[in-house]
Amino acid sequence: MSIPQGDFDVVVIGAGPSGAVASALLKKKGYQVLVLEKLHFPRFSIGESLLPQCMKFLEEADMLAAVEDAKFQFKNGAAFTCADRYDFFDFREKFTEGWGTTFQVQRDRFDKVLADEAEKQGVEIHYGQTVTAYEADSDKATLTVENEAGKSYQISAKFVLDASGFGRVLPRLLDLELPSHLASRTSAFTHIKDNIDSDYDRDKILITVHPEHHEIWYWLIPFSNGRSSVGVVAPREFLAKMEGDAESKLRTLISEGCMLASVLENAEYDTPVNIIDGYSCNVKQLYGDKFALLGNAGEFLDPVFSSGVTIALKSASLAAGVLDRELKGAKPDWNEEYAESLMLGVNTFREFVNGWYDERLQNVIFAEDKNDDVKGMISSILAGYAWDTENPYVKDPARLSTLAEVCSNG
Ligand code: FAD
Repeated sequence: MSIPQGDFDVVVIGAGPSGAVASALLKKKGYQVLVLEKLHFPRFSIGESLLPQCMKFLEEADMLAAVEDAKFQFKNGAAFTCADRYDFFDFREKFTEGWGTTFQVQRDRFDKVLADEAEKQGVEIHYGQTVTAYEADSDKATLTVENEAGKSYQISAKFVLDASGFGRVLPRLLDLELPSHLASRTSAFTHIKDNIDSDYDRDKILITVHPEHHEIWYWLIPFSNGRSSVGVVAPREFLAKMEGDAESKLRTLISEGCMLASVLENAEYDTPVNIIDGYSCNVKQLYGDKFALLGNAGEFLDPVFSSGVTIALKSASLAAGVLDRELKGAKPDWNEEYAESLMLGVNTFREFVNGWYDERLQNVIFAEDKNDDVKGMISSILAGYAWDTENPYVKDPARLSTLAEVCSNG
């Protein structure tokens, strides 16, 4: 079993999207970067529908060509349905400049493409290495790591980036975890051979709201190989009370999903259904003495707007910039330049997530005769441009309430 040797400027915990992109960006700036990843890639991960804003960060990390070569499913928007209502947002018709299209990706392949690209760029990645402890002194941070042979060793660097996703290594070790403000929800999901009609629009994620229980919703994310990811999100107690195993719960709910039920009428359920519970999380701080938290190791809101990978990549891009200044001897303000900058977009998404579950946003999405300009602004946020303060719904996310009122009166 290999043990990393050498002097590293930065050690990154986790080789998912935030770890791969942050490490590549730092390597491009000339630093010696080590990534320690617990598992071996390819490995399954949830979070398959990207947002167009991601493309900018993939471009920045010189990973876009490799992602395009992988022939993932093209994506240009998001469609929404509830009972007989249906509308869609085409991300190319958005307020903010920038990419209007992206991909729907099998994360085992996508994450491996990014990690392999980081390695090709000179990042050292060691798989099968679990980080178990952290300490910092005046000039370095030291991680304790266990390899697959059960051997523990220590590795030091000037700085540690925690990109461990739901592993949440530093939040747990440093007691930084806070309960989420969001209600506890559970998701049941799987991959299927979809057998969807050839005239169905595979270029969009389909979000279905349960016709009676509007807090329950489903995703359908078609891939480029005739398969799809399908899942449901429901209050924890609701799913727990349903009879049967995870697959029968998911299939029962899908059968109640009107348009979704008919789109999937010939689907073959050939893969076990997974359950993930209580995934929303929060932290006391996003940075500290010789460390910063990236992606899901920091805050995770809710899957409804597919914002997870976008936030993860934005955090990687921001942290790499601030850390570069710090390693060059400047004294960057991590609060302003990292935490507040990141939270601007996270808070935009938070207002939209709250608006989704209290139905303000559902009223806006399903309103007839939407104003094109307003639709473009909402489309921008759904496309991941949640940091564009030129957008009135980013500058003041509470405007959503006024809009919802206008929509429900009109
Ligand atoms: P991850 O991708 O989780 O990577 C973390 C890595 O760290 C893993 O490889 C892990 O093995 C490694 N690790 C963990 N612990 C250790 C350790 N101790 N030592 C070393 N390595 C370690 N996002 C979207 O963008 N689109 C979606 O459609 C979407 N759908 C979702 C649906 C659900 C139900 C949920 C719960 C989430 C969804 N997400 C979605 C969110 C998405 O899954 C995450 O936001 C995204 O994967 C975060 O990336 P990351 O790089 O922070 O972490």
